[in-house]
Amino acid sequence: MAAASAAKELHFLLVPLVAQGHIIPMVDLARLLAGRGARVTVVTTPVNAARNRAAVEGARRGGLAVELAEIAFTGPEFGLPEGVQNMDQLVDIAMYLAFFKAVWNMEAALEAYVRALPRRPDCVVADACNPWTAAVCEHLAIPRLVLHCPSVYFLLAIHCLAKHGVYDRVADQLEPFEVPGFPVRAVVNTATCRGFFQWPGAEKLACDVVDGEATADGLLLNTFRDVEGVFVDAYASALGLRAWAIGPTCAARLDDADSSASRGNRAVVDAARIVSWLDARPPASVLYVSFGSLTHLRATQAIELARGLEESGWPFVWAIKEATAAAVSEWLDGEGYEERVSDRGLLVRGWAPQVTILSHPAAGGFLTHCGWNATLEAISHGVPALTWPNFSDQFSSEQLLVDVLRVGVRSGVTVPPMFLPAEAEGVQLTSDGVVKAVTELMDGGDEGTARRARAKELAAKARAAMEEGGSSHADLTDVIGYVSELSAKKRQERDAGETAQQPPPSPAELGDISGDKVEADPALSVQS
Ligand code: UDP
Repeated sequence: MAAASAAKELHFLLVPLVAQGHIIPMVDLARLLAGRGARVTVVTTPVNAARNRAAVEGARRGGLAVELAEIAFTGPEFGLPEGVQNMDQLVDIAMYLAFFKAVWNMEAALEAYVRALPRRPDCVVADACNPWTAAVCEHLAIPRLVLHCPSVYFLLAIHCLAKHGVYDRVADQLEPFEVPGFPVRAVVNTATCRGFFQWPGAEKLACDVVDGEATADGLLLNTFRDVEGVFVDAYASALGLRAWAIGPTCAARLDDADSSASRGNRAVVDAARIVSWLDARPPASVLYVSFGSLTHLRATQAIELARGLEESGWPFVWAIKEATAAAVSEWLDGEGYEERVSDRGLLVRGWAPQVTILSHPAAGGFLTHCGWNATLEAISHGVPALTWPNFSDQFSSEQLLVDVLRVGVRSGVTVPPMFLPAEAEGVQLTSDGVVKAVTELMDGGDEGTARRARAKELAAKARAAMEEGGSSHADLTDVIGYVSELSAKKRQERDAGETAQQPPPSPAELGDISGDKVEADPALSVQS
C-alpha cells in the first residue's frame, strides 16, 4: 500500500536504446511501473515512437498512465540516411559507428526536453547502452537507474573475464577457457563471450558504458531470482551497486492478448490468422522459428534451414525476415516451397506476433537465436528451446537454457558466423543437422518429456515472480520506495542549491511593501 501511494507521486522517464530488443522490455517496464500507479514517459526518436505507439496506446486503453515523447535523432549529421533511427535499419557494418555517434548526440535533445517539462521527473531509467543520459541527470540532479537488457549470467561472465584480464591474455578468440570466479562452471571463448561495443572505433563508447553503469543510482535487471538469483547477487556485489531483478518483464502481460500482438513493430500477418492456424494443431506440436530483430541468416544457411524444417516433418511457423533478400525469396518461389509445406508450415515474411505464438498451447518448441527477450519469452511460456546463437550475449543465453536450466537443446552452432571460413558460405548447420536437432527437441523421448516438464515448472515460477508476493514484484516495490526517497532528497538538494544561488535581497526589496510583483530571473529558475 505504501509503495502504491509512493508510486502515485512519481514520474519516470524511460530512455531505451533504439533497438527493438531494448525498446520492447522498456515499454514492458513502463507498463509495470504505471501498473503501480506511477506516471511514465518513454522517450525515443520519431521513427521508434511510431513503431511502438500501438503498444503504448494499448497500455493507455488499459488505463495506464504511459505516454511517448519524441526527441530528435541527428543521424544525417553523421552521414546516415534520413529516417534511419533503429539498429535493425543498419544494413552495413560501416554504419554502426555513425549510428552510435548519433545516439550519443541525443544528449542535448533529451536535456532540452526535460528542461521544458513543467515539473522535473523523479527518475530516469536509461538503457545501459545509453550512458550519455548520465550527464543530463547530473546537470539536472535527477536520480538515474540503469536497465540491463541481457542476462545477468552474461553480464557477470564478461565482468569476471575483464577483471581477471582474460581478454588481454587470450590471443586466439576461439580458445576455450573457464570463466574465472563464476558461480557455475562455464567454458567460453572470447568470440562468443564479449561485451558490447567491442569493435574498432568504439573504444570510447565502451568506456562510457562502463562509467555510466558505475555511476548509476542502481541497476534494474530483466530477470528473476529463481533463474538468476545467484548471478544477480554476485553481480551487484561485484559492482557495489544496488540491483533489482524485476523481470521477466514480458510475463507482465501474459493475459493481455491485445498488447502481446502489438509488441514492437506492426506484424506482417494478422495475429488472429496465426492463432486460428495454431488452433488447428495438436498441443505442443509446432516449432516456432525466429532469429529476433537483428540477425539475418545468409541465404545459403536460410535455404538449408528451409530444407531441414520441411524434412523434419514437424509443423512450424517461421518468422523469415530473410525472405526480403532476393536470393531467398527467389529460391522459395522457384521451389514452390510455401505451397509444398502448406499443410504444416506457415511462413511469416517479416515481423511476427511472437508472444502470441509462444503463448499458444500448440507451441511445442522454439528455434531461437537466444536474444535475451526471446529467451525470457520461451521461459515465461514454458516452451523448450532449440538454441542457435549468433553473436553478443546469445551464446551465454544458450548456456543458461541448456546447461543451467536444462530446458533447451543445442542446434550445433558453435561460433558467430563471421568466424566461419569463407568456403562454408555461412552454413553451420546443413539440412540434415537441422532435422536431427529439431527431432531431438520435439521428440526427445524420456529426456524430451522431462525437459518439457521442467520448462512448464519454470514458466509457473516466472509468472509467480511477477505476481504479488513474488520476488520480482517485491523488487519493483523496493525500487519505487527507493526512487521516492532519492527523488525527494535530490529535490531538497536542488532547492537548497537554488536558495544558495539567490543574491541577497536588496534593501529596497526588504523595505518593499508596495505589493508590486518582482520579475523572476529566468537564469535562476529551477524546476522541481
Ligand atoms: N520479435 C517479435 N517478432 C519478430 C521478431 C522479434 O515480436 O518477428 C520481438 C521478440 O518477441 C523480442 C524482441 O522482438 O521481444 C527481440 O528481442 P531479442 O532480445 O529476442 O533479440 P534481438 O532482436 O535483440 O536480437
